[in-house]
Amino acid sequence: MNSKKSYWLYIDPYVHISVKNTTALLYNTLNGKVLEVKNTPSVIKIIKQLKMLDNTYVIKLFQREYKKPEIAKFINNISDLFMGGLLDTSWYKKKPIQIIPELRIMDSPYRFLGMKGENWGRDILSKLIEISLYINSRSKNNHSKINNTFKQFLFPSSTSNDKNELNIEQLKKIICQCKHSNLYNINILGDSIINYSYLRELVSFLNTIPMKKSYFLHYTDFKDFRNFSRFINFLNNSQTKEKIILNIFFNFLLEEKLFTQVLEFLKVQHIKINYCFVIQKEEDFEEAELKVNKYDIANHSYFPFYNGKNLKYFKDAIFLTKKEVVEAKPSQKEILRRTIINDTKFGKLTILSNGNIHSDVNSPKLGDFGTHSILEVLYKEVTKGKSWRQLRSNVLPCRKCTYQYLCPPLSNYESAIGRNNICHIWGNGKQ
Ligand code: SF4
Repeated sequence: MNSKKSYWLYIDPYVHISVKNTTALLYNTLNGKVLEVKNTPSVIKIIKQLKMLDNTYVIKLFQREYKKPEIAKFINNISDLFMGGLLDTSWYKKKPIQIIPELRIMDSPYRFLGMKGENWGRDILSKLIEISLYINSRSKNNHSKINNTFKQFLFPSSTSNDKNELNIEQLKKIICQCKHSNLYNINILGDSIINYSYLRELVSFLNTIPMKKSYFLHYTDFKDFRNFSRFINFLNNSQTKEKIILNIFFNFLLEEKLFTQVLEFLKVQHIKINYCFVIQKEEDFEEAELKVNKYDIANHSYFPFYNGKNLKYFKDAIFLTKKEVVEAKPSQKEILRRTIINDTKFGKLTILSNGNIHSDVNSPKLGDFGTHSILEVLYKEVTKGKSWRQLRSNVLPCRKCTYQYLCPPLSNYESAIGRNNICHIWGNGKQ
């Protein structure tokens, strides 16, 4: 037996490798297969070597190593999962070189931080992709929709206890400041936007902006039929109707009669409508599904809402399992992006009806409507803000977990529930 016989052990460049203490995870970004290695120090040592920058996923193995049962098993596994294998060293003059993809500097969303002069201004503006405007709030005393739902997902509600309206001229100005950005969607929300004093003017102005506009209403707004139908008429008569979407929200317990009235009214309109169901428990979901089938509602979405008392529902229905994380098959590009930005939050700004501007409504404000320009708030977020760069690799327990870049980025639900791991993968301090 030739004990000096050696092989190059390689892992393919499309495999994502993560090692945390005594656990390693290899994920094939092409076929979505996963290999977990736990408590096998000799294999973990090899994986760590493969992962070293200079090794580019290739190391030399001598027979005394690859014949060890646990290492042989690892090599068989990576071969079966199309993640890598062995190459006979006698076939190669030198060590085979692999190019391991990394986020190129030019692709980095923060590359402008090193820029000088005028260039960063246009570059920073290009980061903006979505803006949400909460145009009005009504006082707490005469309305019941004030809640924190908007802190979990875009929802038509008051965002403050005071009666407020965003000034129409300032609104137009701020939207004009977004010219030359990558803005593709403007969300218009509030506590009954149908009661916004300058609604016609706003809708007309937005019709001149060539991008998607999403309006948000609550189904109880229908009770104010005069203003509701007037608003739907504005949308119906829009020249850019194909760029408009109306999101209408239903939550439970539904006023059944009102629900059918709203449906009957909306189904004869010529605008795109998304029916949005707020779900707090399994029964809500079942009821929403019944309605979707009964009324043949094609465009619909479900929005789980954490009310402080329904953690069990979230654990049963929302918390992720390993299977769900892997079945989402994050691509190599997505994984690389997740090492730098939170791609759920990146590029988004929200202006609340009290004038506070946030990148994320669960983070401190970046500026004030009417005082700070879009460029100023964007600059603040990318230089000092934390929301767009809120990564699982920076928070516990995710930073100890090998799934940190496979899991979807941190969302507003983690803030609402008060834990970063809304999963079944990490429990009792163990993965
Ligand atoms: S602990 Fe965090 S990174 Fe790990 S699986 Fe759970 S949510 Fe994902």
